[in-house]
Amino acid sequence: MSWAGSKERTATKKDAAITRRSAISGSSTQIWKSRLSWRITLAVFLTILTVQIGIMSVTIENSRQSQLSQLTEEGRAAIVPLIHKNRVGTGVVPFEDEKVTELTNLTRVQGLAVYTTLDGLMLRSYGQPAIIGVERDQTTGAISLPNNYYSTDGSFYDVLFTPKMLGGAPYYVIAKLDSTHVEKGVNDYIEQTILIMLLMSAFVTTVLMIALGHWLLEPILFMRDNLIRASDNPENPKIPDSPFDPNDEIGGSIEIAQNLIRQNAHNIRQIKSAAQDQIHKLAYYDTLTGLPNRIMFLQTLNDKARNSDSESPVRFAVIALDLDHFKDVNDSMGHNIGDAILRAVGKRLRSSMPESAVVARSGEDEFAITMPLSRETGQAKDIAERVANVIRAEPFKVFNENFQIRSSIGVATFPDDGTDPDQVLKNADIALNRAKEEGRDTIKEYSEDFDRAVQQRFQMLRDLRDAMEQDQLLLFFQPQFDLKSGRIIGAEALIRWWKPDNSKEGGHFISPADFIPIAEQSGLIVPIGEWVLQTACNAAAKWQQEGRDMRIAVNVSGAQFYKSDIVALTDKILRETGLEPRRLELEVTESVFMEDVSHAIQTLQNLHGLGVEIAIDDFGTGYSSLSYLRQFPIDRLKIDQSFIRNALNNPDDAAIARTIVRLGHSLNLKVIAEGVETSEHEAFLLAEECDEVQGFRYSKPVNIDDFNAFAAGYNGDFSSFN
Ligand code: C2E
Ligand code: MG
Ligand code: MG
Repeated sequence: MSWAGSKERTATKKDAAITRRSAISGSSTQIWKSRLSWRITLAVFLTILTVQIGIMSVTIENSRQSQLSQLTEEGRAAIVPLIHKNRVGTGVVPFEDEKVTELTNLTRVQGLAVYTTLDGLMLRSYGQPAIIGVERDQTTGAISLPNNYYSTDGSFYDVLFTPKMLGGAPYYVIAKLDSTHVEKGVNDYIEQTILIMLLMSAFVTTVLMIALGHWLLEPILFMRDNLIRASDNPENPKIPDSPFDPNDEIGGSIEIAQNLIRQNAHNIRQIKSAAQDQIHKLAYYDTLTGLPNRIMFLQTLNDKARNSDSESPVRFAVIALDLDHFKDVNDSMGHNIGDAILRAVGKRLRSSMPESAVVARSGEDEFAITMPLSRETGQAKDIAERVANVIRAEPFKVFNENFQIRSSIGVATFPDDGTDPDQVLKNADIALNRAKEEGRDTIKEYSEDFDRAVQQRFQMLRDLRDAMEQDQLLLFFQPQFDLKSGRIIGAEALIRWWKPDNSKEGGHFISPADFIPIAEQSGLIVPIGEWVLQTACNAAAKWQQEGRDMRIAVNVSGAQFYKSDIVALTDKILRETGLEPRRLELEVTESVFMEDVSHAIQTLQNLHGLGVEIAIDDFGTGYSSLSYLRQFPIDRLKIDQSFIRNALNNPDDAAIARTIVRLGHSLNLKVIAEGVETSEHEAFLLAEECDEVQGFRYSKPVNIDDFNAFAAGYNGDFSSFN
């Protein structure tokens, strides 16, 4: 029993003494309450009783018979002295009357009948009549000696005395004997026997009860007490050592039960401590990388901060790191690769940072690092640079594939950027967000201005809500053309926010690039998007009614895909406006596919199923996976304007633009270029056989009236824009 500690052992020995005493003292009273003992005892009692009744039923008859033969002997002894042996022959009086009268008065003899032969005539009778029937054998004629007759009420016994029994008398005598005392004797015998029987049973029962109490009940109660203790506290049952001999059946059972209880307790303790370890691991460590998680990281920061006082102030850097475009890798290469990269990043960070640093995985593709600052380590920014270089130094080799990973990093310092460690980590996160916003692969140090920027965003969100209610949102239209023919093919709808102010103009435009991200984050994009789609389709339906062959392109952001039912909305608006579905094009950016590829494919397919066209906006800037491209129901690629803008002075951008056109055509897609500002841009695109164009060269986005005027006045010749 290796699991029972020695301390526990001493305790159980002391306990054993107490329990034994209580079990024993208890058992004497318990025994009379024990149902088991009563049952056993009752069974034994009934068995004894049954056996005794059996014995008694046999001995009662024996006792009666022996009393009757005693009575017979008594009668014989009384009669024999009266016999006159010489008085034989007929007419002789066998007994003297006075003597017989004396006999009947003084003895149990009540009457006599005298016969010379058994079948002969009665010589004489005295007192009460005594008769015994004789039986003759039918064939031999022999007479058989009759049985004595014992009356049914037991009051008399007629007995035949043969001449031989009477000591050679010359006749047979039948005597009627008073036997009333015989039954009384038998009854006395029964009473006595029953009394003995009861006394014996009581004695046996008592002895049995005591024996049961000692050998059975006491150990059973002890075992029950053990089991109660075990169920009350299965983890640490205080069970005393057994005082019972383990060599008998019950003592042996107790020993087995105790071993079981102790083993069970040991197992529970082991399982519990393993579970606690596991819980601690799950709560404070990241299962994928084995690094501490955000909670543990914060705890470490708090511990460090607590150690800081004015005598020995502590300074430490808090670095928040996010892997750039990790989501793209994850979505396109699969989670196995993503997980392996995260593990590799965690491992590299841990091994490249000094012992004094704590490296944690704080989010999906986020890591957090803290390190004490000293003269040797330099400033927090220096450490962040070191971290960025560690990630950048060489690609991560995963499943024999190289992945070049970049990171965005936010840095904050304790206590410079906050005396509360939580706040310092939050500030590092704010700085990280800034780094991501500024094009990733950068390091940003926290600055109080960031807070101001956050405040401004909140203000803008409040203003945007008001803008929706106060109709400050407008929809502008920018024409799109067929590049070869110069024909106007439609327009892209672009939202505008006219915010009134106290200026001379009475207000100013806020760029969608500024408020659309806020609308997306807050979910406001859903009602805004609904309004845009409705307004754009109204305009296009009007063109349709006027017989103009023009379509409308509407921007749809990813949030609308996930936060609303864009398919149902489009279907509803198409029905209500009567717009032919082919006259509506929805522009989505590649970021739409990042969140949930299969959902994006399904939604696009449903939209396409309505007959609506799909274009990929800003193509070339996001993370494009060619294999996905084939799965999506796409009609048009929209080359991002940055490539067009730089195509003429940057061969790389020109090559990208060219490649996108070829790619689109090889996939049977139309390719439209936006940001066409000059005739040189136009010439380049014409040479590359791009299909369609849109840009300031032709028209800036304008309100619906100006657009309609433009479309009506346009002569279909690009040279008019020269
Ligand atoms: P986008 O969809 O790529 O729209 C094209 C942007 O390029 C527009 O900017 C447009 O004014 C601008 N642009 C067009 N031609 C030229 C050109 O020749 N030179 C230059 N420099 N720019 C040109 P805008 O209107 O500021 O919109 C910016 C972005 O805001 C849009 O990019 C789109 O992503 C988003 N956006 C605009 N309206 C909506 C909308 O209704 N819903 C959603 N979800 N997003 C919208
Ligand atoms: Mg667009
Ligand atoms: Mg675009």
